[in-house]
Amino acid sequence: FFPTIYPWGAFCSWICISKRFTFAHFLHDLCMRGFTAGLAHFREEFAKAKHIAIITGAGVSAESGVPTFRGAGGYWRTWQAQDLATPGAFSRDPSLVWEFYHYRREVMSSKEPNPAHLAIAECEARLGQQGRSVVVITQNIDELHRRAGSKHVLEIHGSLFKTRCMSCGEVKENYKSPVCPALKGKGAPDPNAKEARIPVEDLPRCDRQGCHGLLRPHVVWFGETLDADILTSVEQELERCDLCLVVGTSSIVYPAAMFAPQVAARGVCVAEFNMESTPATQRFMYHFEGPCGRTLPPALARHQSEVI
Ligand SMILES: [Zn+2]
Repeated sequence: FFPTIYPWGAFCSWICISKRFTFAHFLHDLCMRGFTAGLAHFREEFAKAKHIAIITGAGVSAESGVPTFRGAGGYWRTWQAQDLATPGAFSRDPSLVWEFYHYRREVMSSKEPNPAHLAIAECEARLGQQGRSVVVITQNIDELHRRAGSKHVLEIHGSLFKTRCMSCGEVKENYKSPVCPALKGKGAPDPNAKEARIPVEDLPRCDRQGCHGLLRPHVVWFGETLDADILTSVEQELERCDLCLVVGTSSIVYPAAMFAPQVAARGVCVAEFNMESTPATQRFMYHFEGPCGRTLPPALARHQSEVI
């Protein structure tokens, strides 16, 4: 099911959309619950679910004001994420790419989890006491789910706060600010900001004895494949779940399009919480339109059937 995977890619969207129509018909015949039903029907599903998978995308972070450096107006200096978040850019100019990531790390100190993050975390804690589970499968790299209190999080694109050694491959949590002394005060997003041009030996380096390799952000860049172990975990969670939420992204675009169809193919209901709808989503699934910080809390709130 996963041929070549393009992170953030719209590349496979069309293929997924085509597939989705097949699933749409399949679901429409099989799962006759009336997908135009609103919150009340969703709440019945929610009350019965034992294992809930929540796939989250950029929209959840956007509601916390986290910049994505993509789309209209999304620039760091004169670049967008797709210019700098690539292995090629890092090998050509590691100083510039580290400035970009240093800025992205630093900006997170002024951002907070929003009501959608908090509703997910609260739901996981509450359902956990009832022997039910919630897993978050996210493309977001800002760790806001963890900061909100979510424990079971699969970060398919890695994290801004992890580094990976280019020499020995060691992955480590890293919350240093700045990430290395040479980056202190660097990374200003202004288009006229001067490039720091930090010598490669002064960029973040591996502290493993005898290694001293160059560190890179442990995030999945454009043109890179997703981590195989994470994908295996995602597969297991999707096989197990009996309710799937797609939050802050459309279920017909990456990454949810990679995952939601296989859940739907088992007859499991998928509910989408997103700013936009498409004709395809409205026909065959629960769809709640608007900011997920507003739509998600009532959907995940304690149900009257929950006794603990
Ligand atoms: Zn190393």
